[in-house]
Amino acid sequence: VSRKKAKGLHQWLIPKLRRISMFWPQKAIARKKSKHIIEVGKFKNGRPKLKTMYECAMCGPDYLYEKEETHMDHIVPVVDLSGFTNWDDYINGLFAPVENYQTLCIPHHEEKSKAENKKRLTLSKNYAKMNSKYNYKRKYKRSVRKKRARSN
Ligand SMILES: [Zn+2]
Repeated sequence: VSRKKAKGLHQWLIPKLRRISMFWPQKAIARKKSKHIIEVGKFKNGRPKLKTMYECAMCGPDYLYEKEETHMDHIVPVVDLSGFTNWDDYINGLFAPVENYQTLCIPHHEEKSKAENKKRLTLSKNYAKMNSKYNYKRKYKRSVRKKRARSN
């Protein structure tokens, strides 16, 4: 597969895989684990009014959230912080076992994702720096070699 085709396939396939992963049963099991059924009042006949709420793994059980106020988080990120490796790793990461999911409130999920992306960026910058240093050294050595050859 050419690099250009690989990149196109990548961009086309990843959003689709992500969409399918919403129906991944292990994810639903993990969500269920964070579910609380709380009493929010009583009906006139005395029966309790119940509501389903969700616990954020970072906020703890004292603050519960509506379903829409939470996201399911991959504890170990789908894509390693050092970047995409291969499709096997990606698919295993995306369709994770129940232990790798946690429910987070949206602010905590965003905070975690931001921190991960920041780390990714730092890693890729370091990588680029390393590469450019390497190239620089190579170019430098080449120019020294040329100079020496000329002076001899
Ligand atoms: Zn939270």
